[in-house]
Amino acid sequence: MNIPLAVTRNAIGEAPDRLGRDALDACFLGPYGENDGLLEKLVVEFLRDHVYWRRNFHPEDPPAIPTRAAQQPGYQAFEARMRRELHTLSAALKKSVPFHSPRYIGHMASDLLLPGLAAQLLTLPYNPNNVSEDAAPVTVEMEIRAGLQLARMLGYPDDPSREACAFGHLTSGGTLANYQALRLALASKAFPVALRAAGVPDIGVPKDDWEAFNLGNDDTIALLGRWQRWLAAQSSLQRSAWQMRVQSERIETLGLTDFFARHTDLRPPRVLAPVTAHYSWSKGLKLLGLGRAQLELLPERSMRLDADALQEALERCLRERQPVLMVVAVLGTTEYGTIDPVDRVVAARDAMRSRGLGFTVHVDGAWGGYLATLFRNPDGSLRDRAEVGSEFARFPQPEVHAAFAALGETDSVTVDPHKLGYLPYGAGAFICRDHRAMTLLAEEADYVFDGEGATDYMARYRRLGQFVPEGSKAGAAAAAVYVTHRVLPLDHAHFGQLSKQTVLAAEAFHARAERFAEELGDIVHACVPFAPDSNLVCLALNPAGNRDVGHANAFARRLHEELRCDPHRPLQVKEFFGSMTTLRPDALAAAELQRIVVQLRLDPATFGPDADRLVILRHTLMNPYLIDRENGISYIDRYFDYLATLVRALA
Ligand SMILES: *Cc1c(COP(=O)(O)O)cnc(C)c1O
Repeated sequence: MNIPLAVTRNAIGEAPDRLGRDALDACFLGPYGENDGLLEKLVVEFLRDHVYWRRNFHPEDPPAIPTRAAQQPGYQAFEARMRRELHTLSAALKKSVPFHSPRYIGHMASDLLLPGLAAQLLTLPYNPNNVSEDAAPVTVEMEIRAGLQLARMLGYPDDPSREACAFGHLTSGGTLANYQALRLALASKAFPVALRAAGVPDIGVPKDDWEAFNLGNDDTIALLGRWQRWLAAQSSLQRSAWQMRVQSERIETLGLTDFFARHTDLRPPRVLAPVTAHYSWSKGLKLLGLGRAQLELLPERSMRLDADALQEALERCLRERQPVLMVVAVLGTTEYGTIDPVDRVVAARDAMRSRGLGFTVHVDGAWGGYLATLFRNPDGSLRDRAEVGSEFARFPQPEVHAAFAALGETDSVTVDPHKLGYLPYGAGAFICRDHRAMTLLAEEADYVFDGEGATDYMARYRRLGQFVPEGSKAGAAAAAVYVTHRVLPLDHAHFGQLSKQTVLAAEAFHARAERFAEELGDIVHACVPFAPDSNLVCLALNPAGNRDVGHANAFARRLHEELRCDPHRPLQVKEFFGSMTTLRPDALAAAELQRIVVQLRLDPATFGPDADRLVILRHTLMNPYLIDRENGISYIDRYFDYLATLVRALA
């Protein structure tokens, strides 16, 4: 089977040079279900198609279920029971959160892209299991291709016929993708130590444990290659003996306790991440057995990782001979959508590597990963800042452009297709720049490394269950991601047109928030605490005349009461849905806290045990219909009008 990777250019599916407004109209079911006819047509067509497929498998087999079955009482009773339960389910689901509506600006969810939804529905009755190609002859390859599509978006090498090609796979979500990054980083870091301990000759193993544990990703991959070639040159008897010997020294075999007991020069490595990091990092360190204590949180500046503080932490680690497993940069923080200085983190990695402290750089782009589409041309090249910026008021800040431009130099990235990819749950993705270290995660010895062609690449990863944390996994999710990326290639002219809408909406929201703060200045002090780098905007509020943090929090919580999902009240009584977050003074640079407190006219001395953080409203601006051009409605304006009414009533 040959699944194409590049954009198709044929008579029917000609990819337009740029997705037009009218094409965007066909992307989603729509807030009103406007595209119901299109979705229904697709669902019915492909359901029938699936049935024909069953009938044509062995047409000589007679139907096993008799045609009169539907008239039998037991059948009818079953159908009745099934219908009743389905009606109950359907009724209950009416209480669901209306993610599709432009009145929903709460969490990271929105409408679903039709190509993905249709591909998923179409694939479900075939029920492929992407654990391996035996259970998913079609969709496993789609998953590997989807990984390459994302790799290209990030600026990683995406040609599997090249030795150093990227590799990516899907996970249930960003949490598991981050965990996979930790697993891979630890396997790579500890492998040279195992080679040394096993006494492998002639391949240039590092001179001591410290050096072996700090080689850095690229040198480790080179060493791995030398080991594999050396191994291939041994007799088959020798080969398996050496393999067992190295295997017995690996951290995956020994476990952390025995590994570090044998290598007393080494300590368990740390993960450095910004304070804004998602709590999946804490989960990941617990799961890996390194422990939450090995997660060191670094301070921020305007909710971006403080690169100077990172440098200081790295100097300290080098001084104290404290190994570092990885540094995490967040591309679109969960609370503020801010973008960490990926370029500076990469530079720190390279500089520290040459001083003997090697570690990997992982980008947690679970939220912001798809914004990389804005920075890519259809030919895969990078757009410069002026080009990207020509469509926006202030996006992208120079720091933001530099961060996206540096993605190709990082070691691995997490991206969530089920967030800004507008696809159904659960679809996260893990992508690494150089696939060759993946062999260290293989559950069984991974023998396909003689040649390094695309055939080997595909053959290896079709045994996907060998490499991923999960076992059985939905092939339908892979079909959804792959097909969506085929319909909407991951560059600025196609998928990027969607990303553009969200950034434009955030800019409009930010501007409107500032007007709101001015207009309501005598009732409430309001501010956007951090200028958004992307498409999340927070709003802090304090009733005029109040100086007390606890009182301001009570006010923000009352507002949030009106904006949150309440399963006990009908959906329709809600005007808008928003979310909230909190600002912890101890997680904030002093100058930042000072700035915000002054803007809100709060007394910082009133932070205390009962009010140890500031409650603020948070808005996710990913709905593509926030600015409804058809009817000349801005749901952003409407939201602020509503908020003004609430504030007036409460203040
Ligand atoms: C959402 C998110 C995650 C976790 O992803 P899930 O898909 O919810 O598991 C991790 N990191 C960041 C930055 C996120 O926004």
